[in-house]
Amino acid sequence: MVGFGLLLLENHAAHTVKLTSFEQNSCKAENSKLAFELAISPAAGPQPYSNTPPLCRSAIIQKIGCLSLACPQPDRFAFDPLLGLACLSAARRLINMAKLNKIVDYLDQALEHAAFSDASLNGLQVEGASEVTKAAYAVDAAITTAEKAAEIGANFLIVHHGIFWGKAEAVRGSRKRLLEVLLGNDISLFASHLPLDAHKTWGNNYSLAGLLEMSSLQSVLPYGGQLIGCMGVNEKALSIDAIVERLAALPGADKKMQTLRFGPEIPQRIAVCSGSAADGLTRFQEDGFDTFITGESKQFAYHFAKDNNLNAIFAGHYATETVGVKNIAEEIKNKFGVDYEFIDCPTGI
Ligand SMILES: [Zn+2]
Repeated sequence: MVGFGLLLLENHAAHTVKLTSFEQNSCKAENSKLAFELAISPAAGPQPYSNTPPLCRSAIIQKIGCLSLACPQPDRFAFDPLLGLACLSAARRLINMAKLNKIVDYLDQALEHAAFSDASLNGLQVEGASEVTKAAYAVDAAITTAEKAAEIGANFLIVHHGIFWGKAEAVRGSRKRLLEVLLGNDISLFASHLPLDAHKTWGNNYSLAGLLEMSSLQSVLPYGGQLIGCMGVNEKALSIDAIVERLAALPGADKKMQTLRFGPEIPQRIAVCSGSAADGLTRFQEDGFDTFITGESKQFAYHFAKDNNLNAIFAGHYATETVGVKNIAEEIKNKFGVDYEFIDCPTGI
């Protein structure tokens, strides 16, 4: 029914506590009383909670108590089974908290941020709480999405479009208000732009290719020193209508997305590049595709597609970039145990 935790007091002198491990076990205490075991230091070994100096106990109680309202009378938690269970759950949450810097280091490496020449400042753009308790993901960093993240209690916001691009810009006006929302709520902002378009597992383009069940995937479209698009074979012989139908299921997608039908009704080879990549159409000869999918259109695209017998589908900048950020959130959940929510804030663009 119950377990007992192993608490490790890391900094005895400062009376600060860090829980470093928690093991499920059967409760050995009699009369349904809970036993916490405490290690004053790794060398001292575990000691029963009740034998620890009162000051240390109070430090532990404060740490657990302040992190969880589930323990209203923390003084009693070692002796009251119900309060004890509440504290065990608080302790478990404490242990499950993920360090911000560990998550950021992991993502920076996995997304190969350093390999891209990108106007976006990829990685941690704003530092909030050092422990990540809940994540949120959105396509754009904006006052609306930051306020929503605060509302749902997230302190780690993952976006595709961050707030720092290219040249240095003053923190004033809406930028100031956005930063006030983030910093005022201890919310970290993490952005990944081109690297998240290109990534072969989590990226927007490989994910959209997966949605269309394309095969023989390869990276195409050089940009920022890397290949950021994805091209493959239309393995399922999907018609243009069937492709549009699948893309229309993306969050924020316009069911009547603009489609230029000047190529084969059933495409052979499809290139995908999310966002605003209409210029990628011009790569059809080098890359060998007959159908191109991106987010936003451009004026030149109509005649270019017509003159070269190409299909082009403009599935929406927002819609095509909802997939990569979700994959990051899912990865953080699986690897670090951080729950997340999607902040859907479609732009219609
Ligand atoms: Zn974009």
